[in-house]
Amino acid sequence: MRASDTREISLQDVEVPKMNLVGNEREGFRMAVVILNSGRIGVSFQAIGIAQAALNEAIKYSKERKQFGQVIANFQAIQFKLADMATRIDAGRLLGYRAAQLKDEGKPCHRESSMAKLFCSQMANFVCNEAVQIHGGYGYIKEYAVERYFRDARVTELYEGTTEAQKMVISRDLLKD
Ligand SMILES: Cc1cc2nc3c(=O)[nH]c(=O)nc-3n(C[C@H](O)[C@H](O)[C@H](O)COP(=O)(O)OP(=O)(O)OC[C@H]3O[C@@H](n4cnc5c(N)ncnc54)[C@H](O)[C@@H]3O)c2cc1C
Repeated sequence: MRASDTREISLQDVEVPKMNLVGNEREGFRMAVVILNSGRIGVSFQAIGIAQAALNEAIKYSKERKQFGQVIANFQAIQFKLADMATRIDAGRLLGYRAAQLKDEGKPCHRESSMAKLFCSQMANFVCNEAVQIHGGYGYIKEYAVERYFRDARVTELYEGTTEAQKMVISRDLLKD
């Protein structure tokens, strides 16, 4: 995320000429929601990409690192972590594809994009945490990529609506009728 320079902007008493109006008056919220749907699908796939990279590194490292006379990939405790990580990544990818397909078809995808974002961002944090664990102490230092993946995964639960905000969107949709 260091490549993404984040700054606050503040608008006060700004007059915008009519010709600069984006869309129609009083439709701002609807437009923002539509834009957020796309953004949430984008963040879902960002989280999937980070998680997949972390899993790839964890697999590679577990086949290299030797402890007690054998590579750590031979330990069932490590194998089970890899299995959980891969399964959750696949589940997230399927939720992401569903939301993206609905969006591509011009169908409503409000709930589905929030579900994908909620699941994928939490999944990326789980997977990156496990990848750091598999790397042991090396997972915590900058020499290995998983340290960066762990940091980058964290923000996916915050921006484009926090985890709590996604739960609000989903539950409101469930309860609306
Ligand atoms: C790296 C980065 C890049 C960003 N890029 C952009 C950008 O390009 N454009 C943009 O507009 N914003 C951007 N943001 C801002 C981001 O969208 C907000 O930080 C995010 O939506 C959370 O808002 P907040 O920080 O004000 O948290 P707050 O709203 O203060 O929330 C704090 C905590 O309270 C919880 N909370 C808040 N309200 C409720 C509620 N009603 N019910 C239950 N829990 C609640 C939240 O879930 C969170 O846990 C960026 C942020 C970061 C970190």
